[in-house]
Amino acid sequence: MTVLAHLDFQADFVQNQGGPGRFSALVLNADYRPLSYFPLSLWSWQDAIRATFLDRVGVVEEYDSIARSPSVEFKRPSVVVLKRYIKPIRRAAFTRFNLFLRDEFTCQYCGRNSELTFDHVIPKSRGGLTEWTNVVAACTHCNLKKGSALPDECGISLRRIPMQPTSEELLNVGRKFPPNHLHESWLDFLYWDVELKT
Ligand SMILES: [Zn+2]
Repeated sequence: MTVLAHLDFQADFVQNQGGPGRFSALVLNADYRPLSYFPLSLWSWQDAIRATFLDRVGVVEEYDSIARSPSVEFKRPSVVVLKRYIKPIRRAAFTRFNLFLRDEFTCQYCGRNSELTFDHVIPKSRGGLTEWTNVVAACTHCNLKKGSALPDECGISLRRIPMQPTSEELLNVGRKFPPNHLHESWLDFLYWDVELKT
């Protein structure tokens, strides 16, 4: 099932970010959208508590889990919101995940959405650069078939011209691939934009 494959990939990606671990808090911008989707903006509960005490964030949702210090006890926050709006970064980072995201986890030659890897449209051996406009998601089948040839030399063609996406474009694509392993109190905020549109 292809959707599950996407989600597994994404879960794996998020979990392998060296992130804050158990009882992470989802961090929302002051407009209640996640500060970032990829990777998802998460803080450790310690950082979330610290920011709360510094009055930089408000607590929106909490875990049923209590942290205790010698003098105080409090529930660990599961969702926090920044008190001051941070302007999102416009430039989309050229990352493995963002590239797959731009290409919607589909091979840009045949449309398959499993066994994905990357392909240099102009092969590196022919001077092709590793950049947004020359790297696409490709299935291993097409990748092997193409080898170090140009697409038209081996009878395959790109479904669309690879471009550098804006961060807004990636956000929009990203909403099609919502995380599935995250704490339930995060979901309202992750789906928020989607619900407005439908
Ligand atoms: Zn393919």
